[in-house]
Amino acid sequence: MFRSVRATVAAAFAGVLGAFNTSPAQSSPAVVDAITVIHSETLLDGRGASTHNAWVVVRGRRIERVSTTAISIPGAKTIELGSATLLPGLIDAHVHPGWYVDRQGKRNSARSGDTPAQAALAQAGNLYATLMAGFTTIQSVGGIEDLELRDATARELIPGPRILTSITQLSSTRPTPDSLRALVRGLHGQTADLIKLFSSSGLGAGGAQTLSDEQIAAVCGEAKRLGLRTLVHAISPASVRAAVLGGCTQIEHGTFVTDVELKLMAQHGTIFDPQVCLVFQNYVDHADAYGFNDVSLAPLKAAIPTATAMFARAIKTPGLKIVFGTDAVALAHGRNAEEMICRVRAGQSAMDVIISATSAGAAAIGMADHLGVLASGYEADLVAVDGDPSRDITAMKRVVFVMRGGTRYR
Ligand SMILES: [Zn+2]
Repeated sequence: MFRSVRATVAAAFAGVLGAFNTSPAQSSPAVVDAITVIHSETLLDGRGASTHNAWVVVRGRRIERVSTTAISIPGAKTIELGSATLLPGLIDAHVHPGWYVDRQGKRNSARSGDTPAQAALAQAGNLYATLMAGFTTIQSVGGIEDLELRDATARELIPGPRILTSITQLSSTRPTPDSLRALVRGLHGQTADLIKLFSSSGLGAGGAQTLSDEQIAAVCGEAKRLGLRTLVHAISPASVRAAVLGGCTQIEHGTFVTDVELKLMAQHGTIFDPQVCLVFQNYVDHADAYGFNDVSLAPLKAAIPTATAMFARAIKTPGLKIVFGTDAVALAHGRNAEEMICRVRAGQSAMDVIISATSAGAAAIGMADHLGVLASGYEADLVAVDGDPSRDITAMKRVVFVMRGGTRYR
């Protein structure tokens, strides 16, 4: 709402002043002119197509037109990206923007002693780093701070991605199925975009099933009734099977799944969001901030080869929908593309990795009609990188341009 009012005002000024086209606001984030023509030598549409030499017309928040012949519109702002590759804004299905390193050098917690302003600024910094890395939409799973963060980026008070949030994570095994249904209704009332639950313990604890089949089915069934998707933290095979059979939407992690669970997910249309490296390596590299010792680090180190081998089997599973999610926590925000590189090393094609973070990612969050594709009518979420990431995925680390909803941020 706020954005469209601003765009309308900008458009009115552009019309009244005519020659007022001297790019008055180049500061970051810049107010984009009503019409922008962007040219790049390579365009990836997010669905697997690659175009040489493309011109993209952005009007307000939307992509109006994509052309392979030069477009010149009098009065329009032009952005020349040269040899960079333009692609849809990226979508990360699983992040924790609320996690940061506090003033004591530790992962923030109730014991941090940081003021609310210190916490909010650190979290805003996480969102900025994520947006600058080309991620224009994230799913936070989830913290109570998400409501304010979601509002602040939606209103463009701070630069950051569009945020979907679960507000909290349901993990306690104590509530009855009826109580869990009530919790889901409460989160729906608090405007949660999705529900996050744990059907297993953490990786370090072995990942065995925690919530019962009945509890899982209660959460996922009630959420579905209310039109909410369910993302399930599930590490072990049994916990994944329970979530799939309980009617949940998407499985997170799945580190120890066998081919049986991979096929089961494909059969049920359950979306899979595995992680291969970034989250594990980040914990290993920053053990002190997270309070890990040699014993607690061992399963995290072991997870990288295990998850890599599991992922290699997952991408060969016919019909399995795989999305891109990093589980980015403190000190990993803005490094999301490192997970893309690991996925290619594990055997996925670079183009498939890009699709998983664009059109497939948008479909998984129920926004396939307006996000994740670079084509006319879609939201003007655009990213450019130095090089062609469909040939060399490391190009995804070299972001040179970011636009979200028609506003240029980089
Ligand atoms: Zn997580």
